[in-house]
Amino acid sequence: MSIRRLPSHLVDRIAAGEVVERPASALKELVENSLDAGARHVAIRLAGGGTDLVEVSDDGSGMSPADMALAVERHATSKLPDEAIERVTSFGFRGEALPSIASVARFTLDSRVRGQDGWRLEIDHGARIGEGPAALPPGTRVRVEGLFDRVPARRKFLRSPRAEYAACLDAVRRLAMARPDVAFSLEHDGRRVLSVQPAPLPTRVAELLDPGLADHGLPIDLVRGEVQLGGVVSLPTFTRGAADQQFLFVNHRPVKDRLLVGALRAAYQDLIARDRSPIVALFLDLPGESVDINVHPAKTEVRFADPQGVRGLIVGGLRSALDQAGHRSAARVQAAAPVRWQTEADLLPSRLREGPGEGLSPPSDEHALPNPSREREGLALVNDTHALFAAAPAARAEPAVAPVTDHPLGVARGQVANTYIVAEAEDGLVIVDQHAAHERLVLEKLKRSAGNGGVPVQALLLPQVVDLDEPEADRIEEAAAELLHYGLEVERFGPAAVIIRGTPAPLGRFDAVALVRDLAAEIAELGGPQALKGRLDLLAATFACHHSVRAGRALSVAEMNALLREMEATPHSGHCNHGRPTWVKLASADLERLFGRK
Ligand code: ADP
Ligand code: MG
Repeated sequence: MSIRRLPSHLVDRIAAGEVVERPASALKELVENSLDAGARHVAIRLAGGGTDLVEVSDDGSGMSPADMALAVERHATSKLPDEAIERVTSFGFRGEALPSIASVARFTLDSRVRGQDGWRLEIDHGARIGEGPAALPPGTRVRVEGLFDRVPARRKFLRSPRAEYAACLDAVRRLAMARPDVAFSLEHDGRRVLSVQPAPLPTRVAELLDPGLADHGLPIDLVRGEVQLGGVVSLPTFTRGAADQQFLFVNHRPVKDRLLVGALRAAYQDLIARDRSPIVALFLDLPGESVDINVHPAKTEVRFADPQGVRGLIVGGLRSALDQAGHRSAARVQAAAPVRWQTEADLLPSRLREGPGEGLSPPSDEHALPNPSREREGLALVNDTHALFAAAPAARAEPAVAPVTDHPLGVARGQVANTYIVAEAEDGLVIVDQHAAHERLVLEKLKRSAGNGGVPVQALLLPQVVDLDEPEADRIEEAAAELLHYGLEVERFGPAAVIIRGTPAPLGRFDAVALVRDLAAEIAELGGPQALKGRLDLLAATFACHHSVRAGRALSVAEMNALLREMEATPHSGHCNHGRPTWVKLASADLERLFGRK
């Protein structure tokens, strides 16, 4: 056996497999180079999703012809200060991108240093095929054509141009978010798809992701020791059906990191339904020694020296920001826009809670209208319903009994469709979805008493048997101690059943059997390594949903006011556990506009 060194073109190709998986990764490397070169404007052109052409032009420092020749050699970089890899602040420094890309495509590098002439270098699949003077403004332009055309093994793994384009757009968005101070433009198959000027971060993020974020985003700005967390996250009422708009940056490098993604989920966990995702652009900055960004060749995964600390900062920081946003609700602002209100007959209550656009929480009809089959008895907060009201008309009005000051949610004036509380606040008209609001209050109450050593149990006179399948019964049995902490006392009862011996005292009477069935499904879904605490919170949300005041119940004015006051005092009361708003407000000024008084 004889040992030989790999020829350099093979080494390049192997490296290309690591650094350049698809057009989007080549694009990312090129744009990072432009940013490292101090570009103020990066212009990108793509064709065929980047498989036909990726071109990146910048107005950065440019390179001299001699530097250009070096730049396309392996492990040649201008970015390694004193070999202290931990302290590198530029994107690059491996010196692999250009030679790797040039080994698997037709590659043209044009560059010009201000005050000098431009130069062009052409490489075809690793072979230099020409060079000479080039005309271009100061800066650099890299053209990559026919990526992987002659590397069938890799070409095979490319997806449709549409999918490759989506990946390119995602990469551009991440980079444009990381550098709101730089202008970016993107053209695909001759169409201009994106063009952003330097702007403050929240503006840039809203421009790139969703204009609604300008109104329904929560700015984050936290410092803990040497670690800083900034950016924008959407309010729980402003969510999407997919986690496709979550952008995370560590030391201004776009990353996709499981730890961060998990932390996000935990921060929002009982604020939004499990199938909804917040829109997020978060920037984590920490000292170079506390993070290893170079774990992965494409540099999208990071390794933290103190992963739990980082997770804690994100979960805790976002929670407290969301807490402070308190009962702010996305629909409030939207509903306040007069354009959403109709002046004719068909003004439906459910319209008030419609999300402000595509991709947002759809208004669920679950609680929008009274649904007798869902009504249940027994409530904690509001339970002295008089039979008298059962046959009352669907809307009632009460004369003003209290002064309308100092209460953000105002004073109750009446109830509509036995579902919505109408209140008058100093600055406008408030409409509250009583079920959604009560559900939120019950959840917060349960969490509080669970935090104070456990929810008291109310023993059942007649224990109830719940028939389940065997794995379900196993799961409930395993969770029995946790459930007891929340005031639900259950025991195994034969191979495929459990028996309920007691229920959470603060919840009063309710259908505990249905709750246990839901929990069995819920626990199965949660399974896995989820933190005990988070799990308990989710269970509490299920409890709350089962036992809050249902739509369709007549409330007295005193009960309504009690509910409003409690909402004001409770964090997160602006939206129910499913992320729908619990109340909307129409500002007085908008009311006046509505009637042409202004
Ligand atoms: P790295 O970025 O890791 O240094 P690259 O192969 O991406 O490696 O680039 C090699 C070198 O080429 C860089 O260190 C830089 O000096 C130079 N270079 C690449 N792109 C540009 C550009 N757009 N403008 C100026 N210089 C560039
Ligand atoms: Mg580079």
